[in-house]
Amino acid sequence: MFTDFINLIYPKLCAACKQPLLKNEKQVCLNCQFSLPRTNFHNHKENDVSKLFWGRIPIETAAAYYKFSKKSKVQHLLHQLKYKNNKEVGRFVGNLYGYELKTSPHFQEIDIIIPVPLHPKKLKIRGYNQSEWIAKGISESMMIPLNTADLYRTEHSQSQTKKGRYNRWENVGSIFAVKNETELKGKSIMLVDDVITTGATIEACATPLQQLDCKIYIVALAATTS
Ligand SMILES: [Zn+2]
Repeated sequence: MFTDFINLIYPKLCAACKQPLLKNEKQVCLNCQFSLPRTNFHNHKENDVSKLFWGRIPIETAAAYYKFSKKSKVQHLLHQLKYKNNKEVGRFVGNLYGYELKTSPHFQEIDIIIPVPLHPKKLKIRGYNQSEWIAKGISESMMIPLNTADLYRTEHSQSQTKKGRYNRWENVGSIFAVKNETELKGKSIMLVDDVITTGATIEACATPLQQLDCKIYIVALAATTS
């Protein structure tokens, strides 16, 4: 009764379209769940996201759930997840995506799910890693363990922009490192990010894993596609 009353005054809004949610809806309204623009990339081993990594780093495949565009509902959803403390929307949508990935022939036999680590300073400010919440959702529906302990961001990334006159890619390569190599060596790993645009962050993330003979799968909530 009391929650009904609260919801009447402050209705919970859909994280994508901002419309009040119905009583049995959570995070994203049913209408948005059906109508947000999907890429369906997980059904194709080679797609606009996996092609981003051609000639850069060997991967098994890559996919993104939604198409990202500016001022769209998808952007609003990501904004809620990243800047409005709405961690649960990441988990919710990650959960939905996980069920779809589970049915794809290209995302089978994955051992571990790892979210792209946030820089410790950013983590301190935001209080959470948004990619971790997406990964949590995917991990739950795919029933694959999450690992947030063994891939970490080194402090080097801080100076990356200042060191413009050096080779930028050399710097990017050392942004991430592995703590416990035996945990990850030779494993099939799904890397999870919120949005993929150039793929540079994911590439940097995958580099130390590739050195450990890991098979790499890449997944994001959204991607800018042509
Ligand atoms: Zn909606």
